[in-house]
Amino acid sequence: MSGSMGDMKWQQKAACRGPQAAAFFPPPLGEPRQDKTRREAQAKAICQTCSVRRDCLDYALSIGERHGVWGGLSVIERRNLQTAEAS
Ligand code: SF4
Repeated sequence: MSGSMGDMKWQQKAACRGPQAAAFFPPPLGEPRQDKTRREAQAKAICQTCSVRRDCLDYALSIGERHGVWGGLSVIERRNLQTAEAS
């Protein structure tokens, strides 16, 4: 994860730092739906333990991040959240 907007100190407390970061992004050549579902479930479980989840989610929403699980939500879930908040 990278970025320069805002205060990024929360990233130092991210529960997804280290080897488990692999659960958060798809492999470069794509993956079967089943694998994606399993991978995202693993990522979301890590997010549930994360002390900076809200900061992470706010950041992803602020930059319109279009890949991976951030703040416990997938791309589609973040989009749905923004749609719901806008209405
Ligand atoms: S909420 Fe999830 S994606 Fe965000 S920093 Fe924490 S573990 Fe990583």
